[in-house]
Amino acid sequence: MLLTELVKITVSVIKADVGGVGGHTLPSDGLLDAVKKTIKNAGDLLIDHYIGFCGDDIHILMTHTKGKDSKEIHQLAWTAFEEATRVAKEEGLYGAGQDLLKDSFSGNVKGMGPGVAELEFEERLNEAFTVFAADKTEPGAFNYPFYRLFVDSLSNTGLIVNQSLAEGVVFNIMDVEEGKIAELSLWEDKPTIEAALMYPGRYVVSTVNTKDGEPIVSASTDRLHNIAGTYVGKDDPICIVRTQKKFPATEEAGSVFNNPHYVAGNTRGSHHMPLMPVKINSAATIDFCIPMVSALVFSMHNGKLVGPFDGFSTADWDYIRNIATQKALAMRSQGFIHPATLVPSELEYAEGYKARMKKLQSKMKPLEDNKLSAQRKESYDDPD
Ligand SMILES: [Mg+2]
Repeated sequence: MLLTELVKITVSVIKADVGGVGGHTLPSDGLLDAVKKTIKNAGDLLIDHYIGFCGDDIHILMTHTKGKDSKEIHQLAWTAFEEATRVAKEEGLYGAGQDLLKDSFSGNVKGMGPGVAELEFEERLNEAFTVFAADKTEPGAFNYPFYRLFVDSLSNTGLIVNQSLAEGVVFNIMDVEEGKIAELSLWEDKPTIEAALMYPGRYVVSTVNTKDGEPIVSASTDRLHNIAGTYVGKDDPICIVRTQKKFPATEEAGSVFNNPHYVAGNTRGSHHMPLMPVKINSAATIDFCIPMVSALVFSMHNGKLVGPFDGFSTADWDYIRNIATQKALAMRSQGFIHPATLVPSELEYAEGYKARMKKLQSKMKPLEDNKLSAQRKESYDDPD
């Protein structure tokens, strides 16, 4: 009898903000239609796909057998976002094409503006995964929920009672400033992982695998200002989390978003605000555009998708949204004073802030005490 090789399925999710209605709110119908039309015309390149949005970010979820970093798959998504940009310009949408930072496609959308998360694996008989799509924030927004999911057994009992998770997982954590990556393993590297996750503006989770190498998580990690050199919108992240059996339960993956934690983002990408769980295909609120995350829960068999079930749509999440709103209003009640706004090194990417600080520096004069000590030092250095 011939042994048939199991075909690996790749789940690719590629997202970009290429324009919003009246500001950074949501994509127009015309823009979504342009993406859908391009993906539909892909022929047999894809097994299945799903297109949706979170705030002003459109995500294209694709299943296929081309593997990660496939030029054809990335090209398809790039073309779809280019087509959408054309429509966004025709419609006069705000920020038309804002995440397409390069003029021409060069083989991989990584480093070109769109965010990418991809997992390649041998499909289980009842494959389950959830895509978490966020807007008005940055890749480090997932540090806290991933910590709760894979490290904190007070948040996830599965870390005690699931044998695979109890053995610990392997984190790949990226330094997005230096462009480096570290492999850190639980439980031996726990404090080092904690030290990294403490600073979400710089260290972000790229992937999580089981100890025996099964992929669980892939998350987008691009920081747009590193590509563009200036502020061009936040690097709204997206991730795929495989669930059930030796992975976290779907409800464990969802519940780590039930304590809306403060993240960087919000209006002008300049504030700390809570991450609010929202329903799929929600617009960004114009109440300070509170950072948001949606949960798309899928089943998959032979690469064919069933879903998404809207993970944050049930009644209990309305209560969590109330908590997020209260925390948002509490933080914004102190205006621009830290920690409501980001630290200066993050604000430096805003041209207006840089201009203000330049003016401030031009008005700075040395203190009298400093002048005296400088004179004293001179007299020591140059004795008569
Ligand atoms: Mg966005």
